[in-house]
Amino acid sequence: MYGYDSTYLLVILGLVLGMLAQSGVKRAYETYSRVHTQAGIPASSMVQDLLRRNGNDRVTVQKIAGSLTDHYNPADETLSLSEGVYASDSVAAVAVAAHEAGHAMQKMDAYAPLTLRSISVPVVNFGSQAAMPIFFVGLIMSFRPLVYLGIGLFGLSVFFSLITLPVELDASHRALKMLEAGEYLNAEEMVGAKKVLCSAAMTYVASALASLLNLARLLMIAQRGNRNRER
Ligand SMILES: [Zn+2]
Repeated sequence: MYGYDSTYLLVILGLVLGMLAQSGVKRAYETYSRVHTQAGIPASSMVQDLLRRNGNDRVTVQKIAGSLTDHYNPADETLSLSEGVYASDSVAAVAVAAHEAGHAMQKMDAYAPLTLRSISVPVVNFGSQAAMPIFFVGLIMSFRPLVYLGIGLFGLSVFFSLITLPVELDASHRALKMLEAGEYLNAEEMVGAKKVLCSAAMTYVASALASLLNLARLLMIAQRGNRNRER
């Protein structure tokens, strides 16, 4: 099949960026999960207090199995903290919990990128599954409309990874502001929380870059297909 060669470097570059970002967040998380906060409040209690103080009493905080499985579900307004975070008073646990609270505040404020991301999930899921098969079937059949349909569907997942960026960066920004205002962390601990959240943000930047690189690759392959046809 033509076009499977050099453009693959773009995919590999995306994977490497993702791996670097992942190892960065793992390192920061491991370091700061060993640093106990001076206040000594477990992340689950801290986050409940933080939400209440910020006028948000609609959120259910619960414990969830696994490691780094922490998330906020805007559909039922539950904030799930992983086993390692829930009862921990470490700087990393507090930072992660506050980040999820940042998402809960986005929901309360009807923050537009979060709403947009939530409604686009089903469409994006369909698009990302169908994109590559449609693209390659189009290439094999030399049927351009199918090739571009595949690229268009892939574009949906690129859109999703781009819209994820403001959602995640804003959640961390809100988290740090709320942590500072609530005086849950001292100055030194705030620096640690910033490191944890910044390294987590880099994973979203890396995956947005990776999806753009993948899109560039598909466009290059499609271009090459055009040239082959003209010959
Ligand atoms: Zn998040």
